[in-house]
Amino acid sequence: MKIRREYVEPRPYNKLVGIPFSEVEINDKFWRSRQKLNGDISVFKLYDKLEEYHQIDNFRVAAGKKEGLHLGEFYYDSDLYKWLEGACRIYLLNKDDNLKRIIDSLVNLIEKSQLSDGYINTYFSTKFPEKRFKNLLILHELYCCGHLIQTAIAHYNATKSKKLLNVAQRFADLLIEVFLNEKIKDAPGHPEIEMALIELSQTTKNLEYLKLAEHFILMRGNIPHYRRYAIKNLINMKKTLELAVELDNQYYRDNNISEVPKSEVAEFFEDLKAKELLHLFIENLNGKMYQHKTPIREETEPVGHCVRATYFYTGVAELYAETGDESLLTALESIWQKMVEGRMYITGGIGSIRGTEGFQKDFKLKPENSYSETCAAIGNIMWNWELLKITGKCEYADLIEKLLYNAFLVGQSIEGSEYFYENKLVSNGEDERKIWYKCACCPTNFIRFIPSLGKYVYSLSEQGIWIHQYIGSRVGFDLEDNTKFNLFQKTGFPWKGNNQITISLDNPKEFSLFFRIPKWSKKTQILVNDEPFKKEPIPGSYLEIKRKWVNNDKIDIDFEMIPRLLKGDRRNKSIRNKVAITYGPLIYCMEQIDNEDFDIFEARFSEKTELTTELNPNLIEGLVIIRGELKSGKKFKAIPYFSWCNRGSTKMQVWHKIK
Ligand SMILES: [Zn+2]
Repeated sequence: MKIRREYVEPRPYNKLVGIPFSEVEINDKFWRSRQKLNGDISVFKLYDKLEEYHQIDNFRVAAGKKEGLHLGEFYYDSDLYKWLEGACRIYLLNKDDNLKRIIDSLVNLIEKSQLSDGYINTYFSTKFPEKRFKNLLILHELYCCGHLIQTAIAHYNATKSKKLLNVAQRFADLLIEVFLNEKIKDAPGHPEIEMALIELSQTTKNLEYLKLAEHFILMRGNIPHYRRYAIKNLINMKKTLELAVELDNQYYRDNNISEVPKSEVAEFFEDLKAKELLHLFIENLNGKMYQHKTPIREETEPVGHCVRATYFYTGVAELYAETGDESLLTALESIWQKMVEGRMYITGGIGSIRGTEGFQKDFKLKPENSYSETCAAIGNIMWNWELLKITGKCEYADLIEKLLYNAFLVGQSIEGSEYFYENKLVSNGEDERKIWYKCACCPTNFIRFIPSLGKYVYSLSEQGIWIHQYIGSRVGFDLEDNTKFNLFQKTGFPWKGNNQITISLDNPKEFSLFFRIPKWSKKTQILVNDEPFKKEPIPGSYLEIKRKWVNNDKIDIDFEMIPRLLKGDRRNKSIRNKVAITYGPLIYCMEQIDNEDFDIFEARFSEKTELTTELNPNLIEGLVIIRGELKSGKKFKAIPYFSWCNRGSTKMQVWHKIK
């Protein structure tokens, strides 16, 4: 289907073409209310935290607007960039003048922090100018730069001003000079800049940025004498962090501040068990942690730190979409298969060990060890989105749905002001979301993701329009022959399986609509203009309906959404004799607060228990709850996993014993 807009992503090896989120109007209660909360409340609350934790002051110092010193961790610049990217995306949707004023002031500040050669990083430029580009493995210099680039693109898209884009390009040009032209054999330890550079190349049409991204991607696994390189970087990190603490302490003494905050990095290490520390050390030395163990073309399994991994795989997928290098896609497909078979939790969460915050071997997925960082869910959505556009395969859109409603959504409280960093599948009642973390990657990632939701709902191909997610929305385009086209989607998701799609066209037009038939829907009923559609829908595939569409044509599509008990995979010892409750795209959990007459950890489920659903409009945000009976005869009540811990801390579990 050809449309008359310049925004269509020209990626030569993608089967599907993405539609920018700003072109998709989300209007259902479930998601629209979250977008509104995000733009009205969450984004401003997090801005206050950026002020409190020095992220903004660090730029004031670097820009010469304030006396002082960079305070906090070496990755703090990325928090500000991610917040700003979120703010720009929100502004594109709601045109909030208050937000625009903050955006403008931050953009000015970033511009003034840039050194004459293009470099920006407030940690290095104010504390260690002589150390820049000396420790790409650990100190997040290019990770921060990647977020600057993505933020600059978001700012340009939201305002059409090239001010921040020019800043980002000047930095990227410096990187080309330093790393590409000099053929430096190094690559950042936290992927991010790869996808950012590919997106910058696409935005500016400058292929040098694509080449630099390719250089960083293919350098992994090919760094000479990697172990020596890792040790050198670890020693450099230790010295740099010690020196930073000395500088910070001197600053606090000079300013008569007695309460010196403890370093997040130090706290993180102190908190680790011996086994986790050992695992972290081994993965540092073999390179798995940083995606440095194996060249991507030879990789077959997901390894290392999960956020690093998914950001890297997203960049690799984007590189494939630009170059068509089949070896990259083969590797990604193998990694993906391994991940979903044995290295991913039922919620879509990944990461089953602290320390590396990473993948382990197959089926080492204890519910109590579920790290499932919120950022890893976001990274996984981004990666699956790229794979979906490349292949048009339903399994990637199915996984995006699972991630959205479970591993991602659990990351924020219903009030939109508190966040989980790790997402356990069982809690002893001591867990709670927090408004901020010293390592604040997850809150800022959450608020930058929410406005972008629209881009995951639809895409285009030459044959027509693909409906990937069932989210109430409208999307419209002018087709190449000037026909005006609109598609309206109404849905009962995630509580009911009914959907209605209506077409608005000012001229009849032949094309296809592709509907995702979720794998969990065993029976699907489809009516086209109230007449049953003859082709049998296959779960886990796209159903194509091709016809000459006319104005007001409608399609009713009803997925079978019933509660089910899912038995744990026998290969995973920790859930072998357990069951979990699923309902359509949702995973359910039990909270102790709803089940006061028994201990949820001791409850025994009967596999034959009859599960019933009930809409409770007064519970949390209004939820479908699931009821059933235990072997003991006691009745239980379960709620969606994403909504747990919204009534205070309480015991919770996803997997329930049957023996
Ligand atoms: Zn995070």
